[in-house]
Amino acid sequence: MSDNSDALRGTLDILYKNLKTGLIGAGVAAVSASVLLYYQNDDVIVFIWLILMLLSLLLRGYDLCRWNKLELEKDKYHPIVLKRYSALTLGTALLWCVFGLYFSTGADSNQMVIVFSALAAVNAGVTNSMSSSKSLIISYITLTLLPFGLWSFYQGGEQKLFGFLGVTFTALLSFSARNSYIFTLQSIRLRREHQHLLVNLETEVKLRTKELLHLSNTEPLTGLYNRSRFIELTSELIKLSQINGLKLAFVIVDLVDLKSINDSLGHEVGDEYIRATANRLREIIQEPAICCRWGGDEFLIAIPIIDSALADFVKNLQQSTIRPLLLQGNVLKIKNNIGVSIYPDHSQKISELIIMADLALYDDIEKCGKQLFTIYNRKIGERYQRKSMLRSRLEHAIEKKELRLVFQPIVHQKDVKKSYYEVLLRWNLNGEAIPPDEFIPLAEQSDLINSIGHWVFEQSCLVIWQSLQRNQPIELAVNVSAVQFQQEEFVGELLKLVDKHHIPRNLLQIEITESIFTANKNVLIDKTKQLRYAGIAISIDDFGTGYSSLSVINELHLNKVKIDKAFIEKIEHGGMPVLHAIASMSQSMGWEVVAEGVETSAQVEILRNMGIQYLQGYYFSKPVEYSSLFPKL
Ligand code: C2E
Ligand code: CA
Ligand code: CA
Repeated sequence: MSDNSDALRGTLDILYKNLKTGLIGAGVAAVSASVLLYYQNDDVIVFIWLILMLLSLLLRGYDLCRWNKLELEKDKYHPIVLKRYSALTLGTALLWCVFGLYFSTGADSNQMVIVFSALAAVNAGVTNSMSSSKSLIISYITLTLLPFGLWSFYQGGEQKLFGFLGVTFTALLSFSARNSYIFTLQSIRLRREHQHLLVNLETEVKLRTKELLHLSNTEPLTGLYNRSRFIELTSELIKLSQINGLKLAFVIVDLVDLKSINDSLGHEVGDEYIRATANRLREIIQEPAICCRWGGDEFLIAIPIIDSALADFVKNLQQSTIRPLLLQGNVLKIKNNIGVSIYPDHSQKISELIIMADLALYDDIEKCGKQLFTIYNRKIGERYQRKSMLRSRLEHAIEKKELRLVFQPIVHQKDVKKSYYEVLLRWNLNGEAIPPDEFIPLAEQSDLINSIGHWVFEQSCLVIWQSLQRNQPIELAVNVSAVQFQQEEFVGELLKLVDKHHIPRNLLQIEITESIFTANKNVLIDKTKQLRYAGIAISIDDFGTGYSSLSVINELHLNKVKIDKAFIEKIEHGGMPVLHAIASMSQSMGWEVVAEGVETSAQVEILRNMGIQYLQGYYFSKPVEYSSLFPKL
């Protein structure tokens, strides 16, 4: 709305809202003045004037009623309305002018008092009621009072005084009207500003509400939908797919390298990577398909699709999202895993479908390097159920006495007395031997590995103690999981346990895998140092398979490395160079070498010739039970 129309609106509002009282006041003044005058001069003309005046007032009253009834803003506050109002008002003023001129002519002082009082009262009343229009009010005052004043002045004698009063009042009232006008103008402006503020406030509130709604539906980093909005929209998508005879595929994209990018290049680059992936997904995913950021490194897509198009869609999705990225000067080669589930084939429930897509994502067996995306199937579900079952059973495996230790000899090439045993854990669940490769990772995913690891140490200490009692001391090497090794109190607790059983520390060794290298380097160095100082030897297990950082491994206080059986298997098929490299590196570092998984005499021969100190494998012995540990003397 423009300022002009705002001002007109304010002016008309004030004029019309005060009109009723103004008309009543003017009517009362006209009737009283006429009656009083008639008593003084017996002139019936006054009643003719009164009738005209009342008609004029009635006409303005009618105008007020009409105005009140107008509904459309544009009619009510049209400039013509002000013109009509002014014309009618000036009509009244003209009648007062006639009144002043006619009845002051030859009037005595009593009649002059009546005429002047009526004019003064009427004018005093309008200064406020018409204060919103300066020109109108000044015209009104001037028209009613000034001719009377001038005429009286002109008549001379007693009239002169009233003439003086008339002119003075015209000036005074005009001045006061001007002040009222300024004041009213300010009020109108303030009111207008207030209204503007209200209107703006309303728009602002609407805008903010929209913004808040957007925020509550989206994920801040990528601007994609968040989880809750995604779930809401998928229920609608299911209906849409049903209507169109389509299936609804749930596709989870997992950014494999996010953690390592965060660790190596910083979280800012990690965030950029996430945003860039989100933008790539936006390009591929067309409505009605939807996409959300499901978790830190996971995006979830729901797309209505037919079976035959699914594989192509997923392949295309994967190819588009693993193109190398240039981020802050780094060219990132990226990888992602994709898991897929399908409504209604796999489930009717959204929550289950999402879990299934997630299971497919993490199912390594299905992937096996062939492809990086996996569509959920029953076997994946069964494997998941087995894992859940094993995990919950494992919690009670110790108290139910389902765990036991077996021992596999590690044979010294030259000095049999230096041979020792590796302690291997066995789990017998209702007659089924659950392999450690299956249950150890499950235990590592929870805190269970710590209690199990502690139990293994405790049992191993007992075995050593018994061997001492029998005077056939044996040395044991215990496998320690990375999770366990990273426990703050690991070294302290281990030493406490060894001391509790009064075992010479050199009879216990530990084997750790390269996966511990993800821990803080200084802590690692410190722990290995403490152990070595305490006399507990440390081997690096499965050497060569992990992601050892040679710079870290060099600084650790190690005693042995165990070459993984994968290398031993290849020994006769081109695996020699790697073995030689490991052997010479170990020699220079002062580490002894153990070859694992030795199965054939040919392997033994080669390893012996290479000067590998220790050999372990089925060629010598499979892991044996406790009862076979001590040969009858
Ligand atoms: P690992 O420490 O590398 O143990 C060697 C594995 O190779 C053992 O399997 C052993 O039976 C097997 N093995 C030894 N010689 C030969 C051979 O000549 N040929 C073949 N094919 N295999 C051989 P196992 O007992 O099934 O253990 C598997 C893995 O489970 C172990 O690998 C170790 O990582 C883990 N594990 C076993 N017991 C424990 C434990 O008490 N604590 C922890 N944290 N992990 C354990
Ligand atoms: Ca081992
Ligand atoms: Ca090993």
